[in-house]
Amino acid sequence: MGSRRIVIAGGGAAGFFAAIACAEADPTADVQLHEATNHPLAKVRVSGGGRCNVTHACFEPRDLVTRYPRGGRELRGPLTRFGPADTVAWFAARGVELKTEADGRMFPVTDDSGTIVNCLQSAAAKAGVRVFTRSGLKKVERDVSGALGLFAHSKSTLGSTRATFQITLTTGEQIPADRLLLATGGTQGSAGLTIAQALGHSIEPPVPSLFTFNVADPRLKDLAGLSVPVASASVRDTKLRETGPLLITHWGLSGPAILKLSAWGARELHAAGYRFSLAVNWVAPRTLAQTQAELTAFRTANPKRQVATGNPFGVPARLWERLASAAGFAPDATWSRAANSTLTALAAQLAAAEFAVTGKSTNKEEFVTCGGVRLREVDFATMESRACPGLYFAGEVLDIDGVTGGFNFQSAWTTGWHAGRALAE
Ligand SMILES: Cc1cc2nc3c(=O)[nH]c(=O)nc-3n(C[C@H](O)[C@H](O)[C@H](O)COP(=O)(O)OP(=O)(O)OC[C@H]3O[C@@H](n4cnc5c(N)ncnc54)[C@H](O)[C@@H]3O)c2cc1C
Repeated sequence: MGSRRIVIAGGGAAGFFAAIACAEADPTADVQLHEATNHPLAKVRVSGGGRCNVTHACFEPRDLVTRYPRGGRELRGPLTRFGPADTVAWFAARGVELKTEADGRMFPVTDDSGTIVNCLQSAAAKAGVRVFTRSGLKKVERDVSGALGLFAHSKSTLGSTRATFQITLTTGEQIPADRLLLATGGTQGSAGLTIAQALGHSIEPPVPSLFTFNVADPRLKDLAGLSVPVASASVRDTKLRETGPLLITHWGLSGPAILKLSAWGARELHAAGYRFSLAVNWVAPRTLAQTQAELTAFRTANPKRQVATGNPFGVPARLWERLASAAGFAPDATWSRAANSTLTALAAQLAAAEFAVTGKSTNKEEFVTCGGVRLREVDFATMESRACPGLYFAGEVLDIDGVTGGFNFQSAWTTGWHAGRALAE
């Protein structure tokens, strides 16, 4: 019997990790990685603003799974067996040290995504993975007899070894495979999803996740670059609510609080056409009532101070001026002149400011696709298809996505590693 022919579709994080795990586990296997473009690991290279946020210093699977709006439940077992600590150890064993930033994100100490790209490429070469670029999978046919396991590795009447899959590449070439891994990423309209469907899978419709909100509002005009370290934002008439740093941009609002909302609300916000009402609490975790009480106490203690400069909450000065003005304060008003109704209006501007969101923009630092191959059709012990034996999945092609912070790559490493080991078995 010849060596097992394993084809991996997609030269991204998940495809490379799987190919390496497979080739290392079974050095006799013929592991071929086919990448559609001329640029393998392109997303790794641009990731994290060119620094690659490889994973997150969150080592408890129970906590970790709460960072995945889709796929958390299914990832619990796989993350227990290969989680962030294993990722750190994996890269360390290949000479790449990671460091942890204050917010838990982990990067290579070089602060250069090229370090990760080089590491993956040299580990693949060392393990004997054959990498083909400009070699996309176009079509895959499964040998029905092979599906029953009868013909895999047996001689066909033509004398060549029968394979489970016959693959047509974008080059026009046809190649056989005994096992196939789809790690083609989450892009909408991807050939990977079409192939998965043709092999018996159903697909959760892909929609964007991790985007910023477009808001054209005089209160935010010309304030791009201002950030509030702890704010909370909620979408009216939904349960969507997130707390964290909030950033004002040229187009509206961004920062971790907004990106988390976009991830958890990916489907709902898509259904709403990205037009909805957003309530922002700039002084979280205070409630509206607490904010009002603090303002009243501040007025009593500081009657002669100007409202424009007397800012009890540490809100950035220019934002404070805008909110005070929106509440009805004159630029030179002093606190002693503040009527109760104006104070109430200011409390509302601070703790429950309404903004009309009219669309979304791409977050350049990190974005992913919500949707993909339905998770119940995949065995998460091996990442093998339940619909088509011999077919495996890893990475964003699955209906898995995380919030920002290294969780998306961790899912690619975890599912890639498990798939790679299972492919080699
Ligand atoms: C700008 C940006 C920055 C990011 N930064 C981070 C970050 O710092 N940390 C983090 O955790 N996540 C980050 N992400 C998310 C992360 O990059 C993805 O979740 C991750 O790359 C998914 O890996 P993957 O291998 O599943 O898919 P991909 O990386 O998308 O790789 C899939 C590959 O398959 C190829 N392909 C597609 N169709 C075919 C086909 N038919 N045949 C052969 N090949 C095919 C594609 O060309 C691609 O190379 C970022 C995303 C973006 C867009």
